[in-house]
Amino acid sequence: MTEPKRYLITAALPYANGPVHIGHLAGCYLPADTYVRYLRALGKDVVFICGSDEHGVPITIKAKKEGVSPQQVVDKYHQIMQDAFRDFGIDFSFYGRTSSTVHHQTAAEFFKNLYENKVFVEEVTRQYFDVEAGQFLADRYITGTCPRCGNPSAYGDQCEKCGTSLNPTDLINPKSALSGNTPVLKETKNWFLPMGEIQQSEAFQSYIKRFENWKSNIKGQCASWLNEGLQSRAMTRDLDWGVPVPVEGAEGKVLYVWFDAPIGYISATKEYFDSLGKPEEWKTYWQNEETSLIHFIGKDNIVFHAIIFPMMLMTHGGYNLPVNVPANEFLNLEGDKISTSRNWAVWLHEYLMDFPGRQDELRYVLTAISPETKDSEFTWKDYQTRVNSELVSIFGNFVNRVAVLIHKYYEGLVPDSPGLIDEKLVAANAVLERDIRQSVTKMNDLLDQVRLRDAQAEWINIARAGNKFLADTEPWKLIKTDPESVKTLLFNALQVCSKLAIGASVFLPKTAERLFNMFGLNNRSWNMLDEEVLVHSGQRIQTPEILYKPVEDGEIETQLNRLAEIKKVQESVPQKATLHELKPAITYEDFDKIDLRVGRVLEAERVPKADKLLKLTVDLGFEKRTILSGIAEYYQPDELVGKLVTVVANLAPRKIRGIESQGMLLMAGNDFGKLYSVSPEKDIEPGSVVK
Ligand SMILES: [Zn+2]
Repeated sequence: MTEPKRYLITAALPYANGPVHIGHLAGCYLPADTYVRYLRALGKDVVFICGSDEHGVPITIKAKKEGVSPQQVVDKYHQIMQDAFRDFGIDFSFYGRTSSTVHHQTAAEFFKNLYENKVFVEEVTRQYFDVEAGQFLADRYITGTCPRCGNPSAYGDQCEKCGTSLNPTDLINPKSALSGNTPVLKETKNWFLPMGEIQQSEAFQSYIKRFENWKSNIKGQCASWLNEGLQSRAMTRDLDWGVPVPVEGAEGKVLYVWFDAPIGYISATKEYFDSLGKPEEWKTYWQNEETSLIHFIGKDNIVFHAIIFPMMLMTHGGYNLPVNVPANEFLNLEGDKISTSRNWAVWLHEYLMDFPGRQDELRYVLTAISPETKDSEFTWKDYQTRVNSELVSIFGNFVNRVAVLIHKYYEGLVPDSPGLIDEKLVAANAVLERDIRQSVTKMNDLLDQVRLRDAQAEWINIARAGNKFLADTEPWKLIKTDPESVKTLLFNALQVCSKLAIGASVFLPKTAERLFNMFGLNNRSWNMLDEEVLVHSGQRIQTPEILYKPVEDGEIETQLNRLAEIKKVQESVPQKATLHELKPAITYEDFDKIDLRVGRVLEAERVPKADKLLKLTVDLGFEKRTILSGIAEYYQPDELVGKLVTVVANLAPRKIRGIESQGMLLMAGNDFGKLYSVSPEKDIEPGSVVK
C-alpha cells in the first residue's frame, strides 16, 4: 500500500445523555488519541474529529422525565463530555455537536442528494402510535409479552430474556412506554436504504475486499451480516427531535439518528476548517483519495461504520471510504458489565476528584488492558499493581535514578562521554543498545498496526532495559574507582530516558511534557528514537521530580467500598418496607416553626473520601446555600443539577467533614436502600414556601 498523504481519524460520537466512563475511554477515545499522537510525532498531516451525538429517542425521553427540553439535556452533557476528554488529554482537532446549524445543513443536503439520486425506497408501513402522547413509538419504547418465551417485559425490537429479535407487532399486549396505554397501528411513509440491493453492487463488493486486512473481530461480525443478507432499513423516523427530513411530504419526520450521526464527522470537519478560515479545505480530507479515513469505534457500532455509512458515502459519490475501522471489544468492571443505568462504572470526572492530576496513570492502565481483540476487565487491584510495579518501580524509578545521579555527581550538567574500556561495562552497554533498538523497532511496528497495548508494553521494556543496565554496571559503586566510565554510563542512560520521553508523548502526554522540560528536549519528533544522542554534554537538566505517587491500599479500598455499596443497593430485593410507628401528635404551632422552602440545585459534587455525601449549591431565591446531603448512592451529582428540591431553610447550620451545611433536603426513604428527593410536582420559583 502506498503511504497516504494525510489522515482523517474519527472517534465515535458519544451519545449526549450521560457523562463519560472508563469503558468509553478504553473503547475508542484513548486508542484513537494514542494513534493520532503517534502519527503527529511522525510529522504526518492528521485531522482528528469527534463530537456529541445529540439526536435520538433516549434524549427526548430523558428530557421528558426531567421536565426540561432535549436541547437542555444535550447542552449539559456536551459540556461534561468535552471537559472530560480535555482533562484526559484526548487531543481532538475539533469536537463538534450534531445539534449545530452546520450539521443540520450538511445532513439535510446529504439526504437530499441520495433522495434526488433515487437511492431510497419509499414505503408506507403501519407503526405503533401513542394517541395520548400524539407520536409514533420507537421500537425501544414499546413493551409487551414475548411471543416466544412469555417474558412480560420484552421490547419492540428484542426480548432480552430469550434473545429473540422482534418486531413491535410481534408483541402480545403491547404497551407504550410513554403513557402506559395500548398503542394503535397507524400508517406512515418512510424512506428506506435498500441495503440488500447495494450489497450486490460492484462498488460495494470491491469495497469489502478491504475487510481482509482488518481485525478479526470486525471481519467476523461483518461477514455474518453479509452472509445473512442485508435488509432495507428506514433512514427516517416519526419524531420531532433531530434533523427534519428535507423533502416534501415528510413533515413531522426527522433523519434516523444513525443516518445523521456519522455525517457529524463531515460537519465537524467543516466547522474545524471554517474556524481556521479555510472553508473549502474539509474536502481535501473527505474527498481526496490520498487521504486515509480511519474510524475508531466500540464493537456495538461496527455495522454502522463498516457497512451502513460506507453505503451512504458510496451512493452519494465523491467521498473516501474507510481504510480501517479498528473497533475495540468491551471493557468490564470488577466482574460485571459497565452500566450507566446501574451506575456500575468509573466516571472520568469522579476519578479525577479522587486521583487529582493522575490522568496518565489511568491512561497507562487502560492501554495496558485495552480490549483490542476480546473483552477485558478493569479491577482496582490490577490498577494499583500496574501503577506501582510498572509506572512507579520500572519507569519512574529509572528516570529518577539517572536524574538524581547526574545532579549528585555533575551538579545537573550532562557529562561528556569519554568511552568505556572495562570489558564487563562494554558488554553491558552493548546489551543495552541491542535491547533498546529491538524494543523501538517492535514498538514502531505495533503502532503501525494499531496494536497499542503491545506497543506500550515495548515502551515499558525500554525502561526495563535501562534498569538492568544500571543494576549491571552499578555506577554508584564505580564512582569511587572509575569515575571516567561513570560519565559514559550516565550519559548513555540519559539518552535512554530521553527516548522514553518521546515514547511517552504517545501514551502519557502529561508525563512526556514533564520529562521534556526536565531534560530540556526540544526536538520531540519520533525520528529521534533512531538517534544516538538526544541530550548533549554540557546541557543542564532540571532538578529531578518524582513522576508518580504509589497507589495506596486505602485509595483502592475507598473505590471498592463505593462499588460494593452500589451492588448492595442493586441487589437488595424489593421487600415490603417496615412501616415506622407514628410519632406523637404536634400542634400546628410546632409545625409552623419549620421554614420549608423550594430550592433549585445549581451545582452538585461528591465530597472526596465520603461515599454517601453530595455537596450541593442550592438557590433559595433570596440567597444561595451550601447543603450537604447523604444521597450520593442514589443520585449522580449531575442528575440533580437543575432539579427543584424541598429545603428545611431555618435548620441551624452544622459542620460535616469540615464543610458547613446550611440546611437540609427533604427526602422520602425506606429501610431498603431507597431515598428520593421530595420535589414540587410542577415548576415553581425557588424560595416559594412549602406549607
Ligand atoms: Zn423471549
